[in-house]
Amino acid sequence: MIKIIKNVEVFSPQPLGRKDILIASDKIVAVEDSIILNGLYVQIIDGSDKIAVPGFIDSHVHIIGGGGEGGFKTRTPELIFSDLVKGGITTVIGCLGTDGVTRNLNSLYAKAKALDEEGVTCYIYSGSYRVPIVTFTGSLLQDLILIDKVIGAGEIALSDHRSSQPTLEEVKRIAADARVGGILSAKAGIVNLHLGDGDSMLDMIYEIVSKTEIPITQFLPTHVNRNKKLLNEGLNYTKMGGFVDFTTSTGSLLEEDLQAWKALKLYIENGFEDQITFSSDGQGSLPRFNEKKEFIGLDVGKVTSVYEQFRLAVRHGVAIEKALKAVTQNAAKILKLHNKGIIAQKKDADILLLDHDLTIVDVIAKGKVLMANYEITVKGTFES
Ligand code: ZN
Repeated sequence: MIKIIKNVEVFSPQPLGRKDILIASDKIVAVEDSIILNGLYVQIIDGSDKIAVPGFIDSHVHIIGGGGEGGFKTRTPELIFSDLVKGGITTVIGCLGTDGVTRNLNSLYAKAKALDEEGVTCYIYSGSYRVPIVTFTGSLLQDLILIDKVIGAGEIALSDHRSSQPTLEEVKRIAADARVGGILSAKAGIVNLHLGDGDSMLDMIYEIVSKTEIPITQFLPTHVNRNKKLLNEGLNYTKMGGFVDFTTSTGSLLEEDLQAWKALKLYIENGFEDQITFSSDGQGSLPRFNEKKEFIGLDVGKVTSVYEQFRLAVRHGVAIEKALKAVTQNAAKILKLHNKGIIAQKKDADILLLDHDLTIVDVIAKGKVLMANYEITVKGTFES
């Protein structure tokens, strides 16, 4: 089936003005001022009162669930496909977290394949919080080269009381393997680092970048908006050329200054709009600890929070094209997902249509309509 989105204002994320977008199978074939094509096999989607933006990319989701930080009954449930659709996420990266024992890479891989089959694009990271990291093949280098879905390592915990307290040498080796594995497999080989509330913050990355040839863009530190000290330190990190990721699902748990939209605004004001990504930490447990580091309760992260924080950014005065970068183009760049993140010829047909309130009206992923006129049209296999 061929689709044409007619007369829609396109943000790719740069504003392109009113265009027609031609989609054939899973690709964008053309973005032109006017495309005339009729016939039985052509579906016309009216875009005249909407804007078209690239499908969102969420680089950190516990797709098979995570946690258990308050015991077994607190293990979080796995991701439901339609939550991705609701949140406009058309590309998702799955990871293990604190628990790399009762959750494992084989199930992570299977869930990623399932999400692919259900209609979005899914990749995964090898590893979990702990070092030495868990892998499929015995080495991260081999995982990157031999396992199609593996695009990096993560989330490896640093600067956190739940971290395995890895040495500098251990983290250095992971980065080195990620780099070479990434080069040989034409993948990002990204090292997704969970940062906790500890004092060491980004010190280990600074050490590695200053003492080796590994570039700062090999790393994507996440949860950088978890406290003020880390948020400020992140500004120095971006000044050195690094990318930082803000977690969106902690939104309501955090004071306003630390919410992803506000953090984004701060970094844009400092000139770093091209180095920020948002991720949800979806399905992860969001444990709350008291000052004695004792567990006092938990919530579950929602993938829809990426969209919510994007919308809040725009509502608080961030230009739509700048806010969009954090949820589309920047993530595609740091994760080297070359067919994602923009609306252009030959790219994957991952497109959201939003109304003037920025509410998601239609979701198209890999050329398939998953949401039409505010209604989810494709649900997960076991959703009624
Ligand atoms: Zn984390």
